[in-house]
Amino acid sequence: MHNMVTMRPRQGSRAPHARQSSVRAIVVFNAGSTSLKFGVYAADAGVSPELLCAGRIDNMTADPHFVVKHADGKPMESHAWGKHHAVDHKAALRFVLAWLKTNLTDIELVAAGHRVVLGGERYGAPTLIDGDVLDYLDSLAMMEPSHQPYDVGGARTFAEAYPDLPQVACFDTSFHRTMPGVAQTYALPKEVRDSGVRHWGYHGISYDYISHQLPKFAPAARRVIVAHLGGGASMCALLDGRSVDTTMGFGTLSGLPMATRSGDLPPDALLYLLRSKQFDTTTLEKMLSERAGLLGLSGISGDMRVLQKSADARALAALDYFTYAMMKYVGAYAAVLGGLDALVFTAGIGENSVQVRAALCARLGWLGVTLDENANAAGGPRISTVDSKVSVWVIPTNEEWMIAQHTLALIQPERKAPCSQ
Ligand code: ADP
Repeated sequence: MHNMVTMRPRQGSRAPHARQSSVRAIVVFNAGSTSLKFGVYAADAGVSPELLCAGRIDNMTADPHFVVKHADGKPMESHAWGKHHAVDHKAALRFVLAWLKTNLTDIELVAAGHRVVLGGERYGAPTLIDGDVLDYLDSLAMMEPSHQPYDVGGARTFAEAYPDLPQVACFDTSFHRTMPGVAQTYALPKEVRDSGVRHWGYHGISYDYISHQLPKFAPAARRVIVAHLGGGASMCALLDGRSVDTTMGFGTLSGLPMATRSGDLPPDALLYLLRSKQFDTTTLEKMLSERAGLLGLSGISGDMRVLQKSADARALAALDYFTYAMMKYVGAYAAVLGGLDALVFTAGIGENSVQVRAALCARLGWLGVTLDENANAAGGPRISTVDSKVSVWVIPTNEEWMIAQHTLALIQPERKAPCSQ
Protein backbone atom coordinates (compact mmCIF):
# COMPACT_ATOMS: atom_id res chain seq x y z
CA MET A 1 0.00 0.00 0.00
CA HIS A 2 1.37 3.42 -0.94
CA ASN A 3 1.62 6.32 1.47
CA MET A 4 0.41 4.27 4.42
CA VAL A 5 -0.12 6.60 7.36
CA THR A 6 -2.19 6.29 10.48
CA MET A 7 -4.78 8.83 9.53
CA ARG A 8 -7.06 10.56 11.92
CA PRO A 9 -10.02 12.60 10.72
CA ARG A 10 -9.02 16.15 10.02
CA GLN A 11 -9.40 18.51 12.90
CA GLY A 12 -10.35 22.13 12.67
CA SER A 13 -13.54 21.85 10.66
CA ARG A 14 -15.59 20.81 13.69
CA ALA A 15 -16.28 22.46 17.03
CA PRO A 16 -13.45 21.76 19.54
CA HIS A 17 -15.80 20.21 22.11
CA ALA A 18 -16.82 17.61 19.53
CA ARG A 19 -13.25 16.31 19.40
CA GLN A 20 -12.95 15.22 23.02
CA SER A 21 -14.20 11.67 22.45
CA SER A 22 -14.42 9.51 19.35
CA VAL A 23 -16.51 10.88 16.50
CA ARG A 24 -19.71 8.95 15.81
CA ALA A 25 -19.86 8.42 12.07
CA ILE A 26 -21.78 6.68 9.33
CA VAL A 27 -20.37 5.18 6.16
CA VAL A 28 -22.21 5.44 2.87
CA PHE A 29 -21.65 2.97 0.01
CA ASN A 30 -22.47 3.46 -3.65
CA ALA A 31 -21.67 0.30 -5.63
CA GLY A 32 -21.44 0.38 -9.42
CA SER A 33 -20.82 -2.60 -11.65
CA THR A 34 -17.04 -2.12 -11.53
CA SER A 35 -16.63 0.50 -8.81
CA LEU A 36 -17.35 1.10 -5.16
CA LYS A 37 -17.62 4.66 -3.85
CA PHE A 38 -17.83 5.45 -0.16
CA GLY A 39 -18.08 8.46 2.12
CA VAL A 40 -17.70 8.80 5.87
CA TYR A 41 -19.92 11.41 7.55
CA ALA A 42 -20.04 12.65 11.14
CA ALA A 43 -23.30 11.46 12.66
CA ASP A 44 -23.68 14.18 15.24
CA ALA A 45 -22.84 17.29 13.29
CA GLY A 46 -25.75 19.73 13.17
CA VAL A 47 -28.48 19.29 10.63
CA SER A 48 -26.36 18.70 7.53
CA PRO A 49 -24.20 15.54 7.34
CA GLU A 50 -20.54 16.59 7.55
CA LEU A 51 -18.16 14.74 5.25
CA LEU A 52 -14.99 13.45 6.97
CA CYS A 53 -13.45 11.62 4.03
CA ALA A 54 -14.51 10.03 0.74
CA GLY A 55 -12.98 7.43 -1.51
CA ARG A 56 -13.51 4.89 -4.23
CA ILE A 57 -12.20 1.70 -5.72
CA ASP A 58 -12.34 1.92 -9.52
CA ASN A 59 -11.70 -0.55 -12.35
CA MET A 60 -12.38 -3.49 -10.07
CA THR A 61 -12.24 -6.09 -12.84
CA ALA A 62 -8.86 -4.99 -14.23
CA ASP A 63 -6.24 -2.73 -12.66
CA PRO A 64 -8.18 -1.89 -9.46
CA HIS A 65 -7.35 1.40 -7.80
CA PHE A 66 -8.22 2.73 -4.34
CA VAL A 67 -8.13 6.43 -3.48
CA VAL A 68 -9.31 8.33 -0.40
CA LYS A 69 -9.52 12.08 0.00
CA HIS A 70 -10.11 14.43 2.89
CA ALA A 71 -13.33 16.41 2.92
CA ASP A 72 -11.53 19.34 1.26
CA GLY A 73 -10.43 17.12 -1.64
CA LYS A 74 -6.80 16.82 -0.55
CA PRO A 75 -5.43 13.30 -1.16
CA MET A 76 -5.28 11.04 1.89
CA GLU A 77 -4.15 7.71 0.51
CA SER A 78 -4.05 5.57 -2.62
CA HIS A 79 -3.39 1.96 -3.43
CA ALA A 80 -3.15 -0.01 -6.66
CA TRP A 81 -3.46 -3.78 -6.89
CA GLY A 82 -1.79 -4.02 -10.31
CA LYS A 83 -2.95 -4.58 -13.87
CA HIS A 84 -3.55 -8.32 -13.66
CA HIS A 85 -5.59 -8.24 -10.48
CA ALA A 86 -9.33 -8.13 -9.95
CA VAL A 87 -11.25 -7.30 -6.77
CA ASP A 88 -14.83 -8.51 -6.38
CA HIS A 89 -17.47 -6.41 -4.59
CA LYS A 90 -17.28 -8.32 -1.32
CA ALA A 91 -13.49 -8.02 -1.17
CA ALA A 92 -13.70 -4.33 -2.08
CA LEU A 93 -16.16 -3.53 0.72
CA ARG A 94 -14.12 -5.54 3.22
CA PHE A 95 -10.99 -3.67 2.11
CA VAL A 96 -12.70 -0.32 2.73
CA LEU A 97 -13.96 -1.41 6.18
CA ALA A 98 -10.49 -2.67 7.16
CA TRP A 99 -8.96 0.57 5.92
CA LEU A 100 -11.43 2.65 7.95
CA LYS A 101 -10.76 0.62 11.08
CA THR A 102 -6.99 0.93 10.77
CA ASN A 103 -6.80 4.51 9.65
CA LEU A 104 -9.72 6.43 11.14
CA THR A 105 -8.90 5.49 14.71
CA ASP A 106 -10.94 8.37 16.17
CA ILE A 107 -14.12 7.19 14.54
CA GLU A 108 -16.88 5.03 15.93
CA LEU A 109 -19.08 3.68 13.13
CA VAL A 110 -22.75 3.77 14.12
CA ALA A 111 -24.56 2.93 10.85
CA ALA A 112 -24.21 2.39 7.12
CA GLY A 113 -26.25 3.73 4.21
CA HIS A 114 -26.40 2.04 0.81
CA ARG A 115 -27.47 3.12 -2.63
CA VAL A 116 -29.76 0.42 -4.03
CA VAL A 117 -30.96 0.94 -7.58
CA LEU A 118 -34.33 -0.81 -7.46
CA GLY A 119 -36.78 -0.59 -4.57
CA GLY A 120 -39.65 -2.24 -6.46
CA GLU A 121 -43.30 -1.84 -5.51
CA ARG A 122 -42.51 -2.03 -1.84
CA TYR A 123 -40.10 0.86 -1.30
CA GLY A 124 -41.10 4.36 -2.31
CA ALA A 125 -38.78 5.79 0.37
CA PRO A 126 -35.52 4.89 2.12
CA THR A 127 -35.86 2.07 4.63
CA LEU A 128 -34.02 0.42 7.50
CA ILE A 129 -32.58 -2.90 6.34
CA ASP A 130 -33.28 -6.31 7.84
CA GLY A 131 -33.10 -9.84 6.46
CA ASP A 132 -36.59 -9.64 4.98
CA VAL A 133 -35.78 -6.37 3.18
CA LEU A 134 -32.61 -7.90 1.71
CA ASP A 135 -34.46 -11.01 0.54
CA TYR A 136 -37.07 -8.83 -1.21
CA LEU A 137 -34.38 -6.66 -2.85
CA ASP A 138 -32.49 -9.78 -3.95
CA SER A 139 -35.68 -11.06 -5.57
CA LEU A 140 -35.61 -7.97 -7.86
CA ALA A 141 -32.09 -8.68 -9.13
CA MET A 142 -33.35 -10.33 -12.29
CA MET A 143 -34.99 -7.04 -13.28
CA GLU A 144 -31.80 -5.02 -12.82
CA PRO A 145 -28.84 -7.43 -12.83
CA SER A 146 -26.08 -4.87 -13.45
CA HIS A 147 -26.27 -3.06 -10.08
CA GLN A 148 -28.85 -4.65 -7.77
CA PRO A 149 -26.85 -7.77 -6.72
CA TYR A 150 -23.83 -5.63 -5.81
CA ASP A 151 -25.90 -3.12 -3.85
CA VAL A 152 -27.65 -5.84 -1.84
CA GLY A 153 -24.40 -7.81 -1.47
CA GLY A 154 -22.77 -4.71 0.03
CA ALA A 155 -25.38 -4.56 2.79
CA ARG A 156 -24.92 -8.28 3.50
CA THR A 157 -21.12 -7.92 3.68
CA PHE A 158 -21.42 -4.94 6.02
CA ALA A 159 -23.81 -6.94 8.26
CA GLU A 160 -21.21 -9.73 8.54
CA ALA A 161 -18.64 -7.24 9.84
CA TYR A 162 -21.02 -5.15 11.99
CA PRO A 163 -24.07 -7.33 12.77
CA ASP A 164 -25.38 -4.94 15.44
CA LEU A 165 -25.30 -1.71 13.45
CA PRO A 166 -28.37 -0.33 11.65
CA GLN A 167 -28.24 -0.05 7.88
CA VAL A 168 -30.39 2.01 5.52
CA ALA A 169 -31.17 1.41 1.85
CA CYS A 170 -31.87 4.42 -0.42
CA PHE A 171 -33.40 3.60 -3.79
CA ASP A 172 -32.87 5.20 -7.18
CA THR A 173 -36.43 4.32 -8.12
CA SER A 174 -38.14 5.90 -5.07
CA PHE A 175 -37.96 9.48 -6.29
CA HIS A 176 -39.97 8.57 -9.39
CA ARG A 177 -42.91 7.03 -7.55
CA THR A 178 -44.52 10.48 -7.75
CA MET A 179 -44.82 10.15 -11.55
CA PRO A 180 -48.44 10.00 -12.72
CA GLY A 181 -49.70 6.51 -13.56
CA VAL A 182 -49.53 7.16 -17.27
CA ALA A 183 -45.78 7.83 -17.04
CA GLN A 184 -45.17 4.65 -15.02
CA THR A 185 -47.04 2.36 -17.40
CA TYR A 186 -46.24 0.38 -20.55
CA ALA A 187 -48.98 -0.67 -22.96
CA LEU A 188 -48.89 -4.35 -21.98
CA PRO A 189 -51.48 -6.83 -20.74
CA LYS A 190 -52.38 -6.48 -17.07
CA GLU A 191 -50.71 -9.69 -15.94
CA VAL A 192 -47.42 -8.55 -17.50
CA ARG A 193 -47.70 -5.10 -15.92
CA ASP A 194 -48.51 -6.74 -12.60
CA SER A 195 -45.33 -8.81 -12.80
CA GLY A 196 -43.30 -5.62 -12.35
CA VAL A 197 -42.76 -4.55 -15.97
CA ARG A 198 -43.22 -0.84 -15.51
CA HIS A 199 -41.38 2.43 -16.03
CA TRP A 200 -39.45 2.62 -12.77
CA GLY A 201 -36.91 5.36 -13.56
CA TYR A 202 -33.45 5.63 -12.02
CA HIS A 203 -30.83 8.15 -10.81
CA GLY A 204 -33.48 9.18 -8.28
CA ILE A 205 -31.01 9.83 -5.45
CA SER A 206 -29.22 12.34 -7.67
CA TYR A 207 -32.52 13.99 -8.70
CA ASP A 208 -33.58 14.11 -5.06
CA TYR A 209 -30.34 15.95 -4.26
CA ILE A 210 -30.72 18.41 -7.15
CA SER A 211 -34.35 19.09 -6.22
CA HIS A 212 -33.09 20.12 -2.77
CA GLN A 213 -30.33 22.32 -4.24
CA LEU A 214 -32.10 24.10 -7.08
CA PRO A 215 -34.34 26.35 -4.93
CA LYS A 216 -31.15 28.03 -3.65
CA PHE A 217 -30.36 29.09 -7.23
CA ALA A 218 -33.74 29.38 -8.92
CA PRO A 219 -36.44 29.58 -6.23
CA ALA A 220 -39.20 30.46 -8.71
CA ALA A 221 -38.48 27.60 -11.14
CA ARG A 222 -41.46 25.21 -11.11
CA ARG A 223 -41.05 23.39 -14.45
CA VAL A 224 -37.55 21.92 -14.53
CA ILE A 225 -35.59 19.37 -16.55
CA VAL A 226 -32.49 17.87 -14.95
CA ALA A 227 -29.92 16.12 -17.15
CA HIS A 228 -27.87 13.64 -15.12
CA LEU A 229 -25.10 12.91 -17.63
CA GLY A 230 -22.50 10.50 -16.29
CA GLY A 231 -21.33 7.08 -17.45
CA GLY A 232 -25.04 6.29 -17.14
CA ALA A 233 -27.21 9.16 -18.38
CA SER A 234 -30.83 10.13 -17.93
CA MET A 235 -33.13 13.13 -17.78
CA CYS A 236 -35.94 13.90 -15.38
CA ALA A 237 -38.89 16.27 -15.71
CA LEU A 238 -39.70 17.85 -12.34
CA LEU A 239 -42.79 19.83 -11.44
CA ASP A 240 -42.46 21.66 -8.10
CA GLY A 241 -39.51 19.43 -7.17
CA ARG A 242 -41.28 16.13 -7.87
CA SER A 243 -40.56 13.71 -10.70
CA VAL A 244 -43.26 13.60 -13.37
CA ASP A 245 -41.32 11.68 -16.03
CA THR A 246 -37.83 10.32 -16.63
CA THR A 247 -35.91 8.74 -19.50
CA MET A 248 -34.62 5.51 -17.94
CA GLY A 249 -37.49 3.08 -17.74
CA PHE A 250 -37.83 -0.52 -16.68
CA GLY A 251 -34.06 -0.92 -16.39
CA THR A 252 -30.98 1.24 -16.72
CA LEU A 253 -30.44 0.60 -20.45
CA SER A 254 -33.28 2.70 -21.80
CA GLY A 255 -33.66 6.41 -22.54
CA LEU A 256 -30.62 8.41 -23.59
CA PRO A 257 -27.62 6.73 -25.22
CA MET A 258 -24.87 6.40 -22.58
CA ALA A 259 -21.12 5.69 -22.43
CA THR A 260 -21.57 2.02 -23.32
CA ARG A 261 -25.35 1.48 -22.92
CA SER A 262 -27.66 1.68 -25.92
CA GLY A 263 -30.51 3.87 -24.69
CA ASP A 264 -33.92 3.46 -26.35
CA LEU A 265 -34.35 0.60 -28.81
CA PRO A 266 -37.51 -0.72 -30.41
CA PRO A 267 -38.63 -4.09 -28.99
CA ASP A 268 -38.92 -5.55 -32.49
CA ALA A 269 -35.18 -4.98 -33.08
CA LEU A 270 -34.39 -6.93 -29.91
CA LEU A 271 -36.71 -9.75 -31.00
CA TYR A 272 -35.01 -9.83 -34.38
CA LEU A 273 -31.54 -10.10 -32.83
CA LEU A 274 -32.71 -13.04 -30.70
CA ARG A 275 -34.74 -14.71 -33.46
CA SER A 276 -31.91 -14.49 -35.97
CA LYS A 277 -29.63 -16.05 -33.34
CA GLN A 278 -27.05 -13.28 -33.64
CA PHE A 279 -27.35 -13.11 -29.83
CA ASP A 280 -28.72 -15.11 -26.93
CA THR A 281 -30.02 -13.28 -23.84
CA THR A 282 -26.61 -13.19 -22.16
CA THR A 283 -24.66 -11.90 -25.16
CA LEU A 284 -27.46 -9.49 -26.07
CA GLU A 285 -27.41 -7.97 -22.59
CA LYS A 286 -23.62 -7.66 -22.67
CA MET A 287 -23.70 -6.00 -26.08
CA LEU A 288 -26.44 -3.54 -25.07
CA SER A 289 -24.75 -2.58 -21.81
CA GLU A 290 -21.04 -2.78 -22.61
CA ARG A 291 -20.54 -2.27 -26.35
CA ALA A 292 -23.34 0.10 -27.35
CA GLY A 293 -24.01 3.81 -26.69
CA LEU A 294 -21.23 6.29 -27.43
CA LEU A 295 -18.70 3.46 -27.66
CA GLY A 296 -20.81 1.51 -30.12
CA LEU A 297 -21.58 4.56 -32.25
CA SER A 298 -18.03 5.90 -32.40
CA GLY A 299 -16.09 2.64 -32.34
CA ILE A 300 -13.52 4.73 -30.44
CA SER A 301 -14.53 5.19 -26.81
CA GLY A 302 -17.46 5.65 -24.46
CA ASP A 303 -15.53 8.29 -22.52
CA MET A 304 -16.73 11.80 -23.35
CA ARG A 305 -13.26 13.24 -22.71
CA VAL A 306 -11.80 11.06 -25.45
CA LEU A 307 -14.61 11.76 -27.93
CA GLN A 308 -14.42 15.52 -27.38
CA LYS A 309 -10.72 15.57 -28.19
CA SER A 310 -11.10 13.44 -31.30
CA ALA A 311 -11.37 14.92 -34.79
CA ASP A 312 -12.62 11.56 -36.13
CA ALA A 313 -15.98 11.91 -37.94
CA ARG A 314 -17.33 8.90 -35.98
CA ALA A 315 -16.67 10.71 -32.67
CA LEU A 316 -18.45 13.80 -33.97
CA ALA A 317 -21.38 11.66 -35.14
CA ALA A 318 -21.63 10.02 -31.69
CA LEU A 319 -21.69 13.44 -29.98
CA ASP A 320 -24.32 14.64 -32.44
CA TYR A 321 -26.49 11.59 -31.68
CA PHE A 322 -26.12 12.20 -27.93
CA THR A 323 -27.28 15.83 -28.08
CA TYR A 324 -29.99 14.98 -30.63
CA ALA A 325 -31.44 12.38 -28.24
CA MET A 326 -31.34 14.87 -25.37
CA MET A 327 -33.04 17.54 -27.49
CA LYS A 328 -35.89 15.13 -28.31
CA TYR A 329 -36.49 14.41 -24.63
CA VAL A 330 -36.29 18.10 -23.68
CA GLY A 331 -38.98 18.77 -26.29
CA ALA A 332 -41.13 15.95 -24.94
CA TYR A 333 -40.70 16.98 -21.32
CA ALA A 334 -41.36 20.66 -22.06
CA ALA A 335 -44.70 19.40 -23.42
CA VAL A 336 -45.27 17.23 -20.32
CA LEU A 337 -44.51 20.20 -18.05
CA GLY A 338 -46.45 22.73 -20.12
CA GLY A 339 -43.31 24.85 -20.62
CA LEU A 340 -39.88 25.08 -19.08
CA ASP A 341 -38.43 27.39 -16.41
CA ALA A 342 -35.02 25.82 -15.82
CA LEU A 343 -32.62 23.24 -17.22
CA VAL A 344 -29.95 21.72 -14.96
CA PHE A 345 -26.81 19.82 -15.96
CA THR A 346 -25.20 17.44 -13.47
CA ALA A 347 -22.86 14.39 -13.10
CA GLY A 348 -19.49 13.79 -14.84
CA ILE A 349 -20.39 15.03 -18.33
CA GLY A 350 -23.02 17.55 -17.22
CA GLU A 351 -20.67 19.15 -14.69
CA ASN A 352 -17.55 19.14 -16.86
CA SER A 353 -18.35 19.17 -20.55
CA VAL A 354 -18.54 22.76 -21.81
CA GLN A 355 -18.99 21.32 -25.31
CA VAL A 356 -21.98 19.05 -24.56
CA ARG A 357 -23.77 21.80 -22.62
CA ALA A 358 -23.19 24.25 -25.48
CA ALA A 359 -24.32 21.73 -28.11
CA LEU A 360 -27.60 20.96 -26.32
CA CYS A 361 -28.36 24.61 -25.56
CA ALA A 362 -27.73 25.50 -29.22
CA ARG A 363 -30.51 23.06 -30.15
CA LEU A 364 -32.92 24.65 -27.67
CA GLY A 365 -33.07 28.25 -28.91
CA TRP A 366 -36.72 27.64 -30.00
CA LEU A 367 -37.57 27.02 -26.34
CA GLY A 368 -36.07 30.32 -25.18
CA VAL A 369 -32.65 29.01 -24.08
CA THR A 370 -29.80 31.48 -24.58
CA LEU A 371 -26.38 30.32 -23.47
CA ASP A 372 -23.86 32.67 -21.84
CA GLU A 373 -20.68 31.28 -23.39
CA ASN A 374 -18.33 32.77 -20.81
CA ALA A 375 -20.40 31.49 -17.92
CA ASN A 376 -20.54 28.08 -19.58
CA ALA A 377 -16.76 28.02 -20.01
CA ALA A 378 -16.40 28.99 -16.34
CA GLY A 379 -18.71 26.15 -15.27
CA GLY A 380 -21.66 28.12 -13.91
CA PRO A 381 -23.57 27.79 -11.70
CA ARG A 382 -25.79 29.86 -14.06
CA ILE A 383 -24.77 29.41 -17.69
CA SER A 384 -27.69 31.18 -19.43
CA THR A 385 -27.86 34.90 -20.14
CA VAL A 386 -29.93 37.10 -17.82
CA ASP A 387 -32.60 37.50 -20.48
CA SER A 388 -32.78 33.78 -21.33
CA LYS A 389 -36.42 32.68 -20.98
CA VAL A 390 -35.22 29.38 -19.53
CA SER A 391 -32.45 29.59 -16.93
CA VAL A 392 -29.71 26.99 -17.34
CA TRP A 393 -27.58 25.71 -14.46
CA VAL A 394 -24.62 23.49 -13.65
CA ILE A 395 -25.12 21.95 -10.22
CA PRO A 396 -22.75 19.20 -9.03
CA THR A 397 -24.64 16.19 -7.74
CA ASN A 398 -23.83 14.45 -4.47
CA GLU A 399 -25.60 11.12 -4.15
CA GLU A 400 -23.52 10.05 -1.15
CA TRP A 401 -24.52 13.15 0.82
CA MET A 402 -28.19 12.48 0.03
CA ILE A 403 -27.84 8.87 1.24
CA ALA A 404 -26.09 10.13 4.40
CA GLN A 405 -28.96 12.54 4.97
CA HIS A 406 -31.61 9.81 4.62
CA THR A 407 -29.58 7.38 6.74
CA LEU A 408 -29.24 9.86 9.58
CA ALA A 409 -32.93 10.74 9.36
CA LEU A 410 -33.87 7.08 9.79
CA ILE A 411 -31.44 6.25 12.60
CA GLN A 412 -32.05 9.57 14.39
CA PRO A 413 -35.78 10.23 13.87
CA GLU A 414 -35.60 13.41 15.96
CA ARG A 415 -33.37 14.97 13.29
CA LYS A 416 -34.98 17.59 11.08
CA ALA A 417 -34.46 17.21 7.31
CA PRO A 418 -32.49 20.13 5.86
CA CYS A 419 -33.75 21.80 2.73
CA SER A 420 -30.26 21.93 1.21
CA GLN A 421 -26.68 20.96 1.88
P1 ADP B 1 -20.78 7.35 -13.17
O1 ADP B 1 -20.91 7.70 -11.70
O2 ADP B 1 -22.07 7.10 -13.87
O3 ADP B 1 -19.71 6.37 -13.49
P2 ADP B 1 -19.74 10.05 -13.51
O4 ADP B 1 -20.82 10.95 -13.08
O5 ADP B 1 -18.52 9.93 -12.68
O6 ADP B 1 -20.32 8.64 -13.92
O7 ADP B 1 -19.31 10.52 -15.00
C1 ADP B 1 -18.44 9.79 -15.80
C2 ADP B 1 -18.40 10.42 -17.17
O8 ADP B 1 -18.05 11.81 -17.04
C3 ADP B 1 -17.39 9.78 -18.09
O9 ADP B 1 -18.02 9.27 -19.24
C4 ADP B 1 -16.45 10.91 -18.46
O10 ADP B 1 -16.16 10.89 -19.79
C5 ADP B 1 -17.24 12.15 -18.14
N1 ADP B 1 -16.34 13.25 -17.79
C6 ADP B 1 -15.59 13.40 -16.69
N2 ADP B 1 -14.84 14.54 -16.75
C7 ADP B 1 -15.15 15.10 -17.96
C8 ADP B 1 -14.71 16.28 -18.65
N3 ADP B 1 -13.81 17.11 -18.11
N4 ADP B 1 -15.25 16.54 -19.85
C9 ADP B 1 -16.15 15.71 -20.41
N5 ADP B 1 -16.59 14.59 -19.82
C10 ADP B 1 -16.10 14.29 -18.61
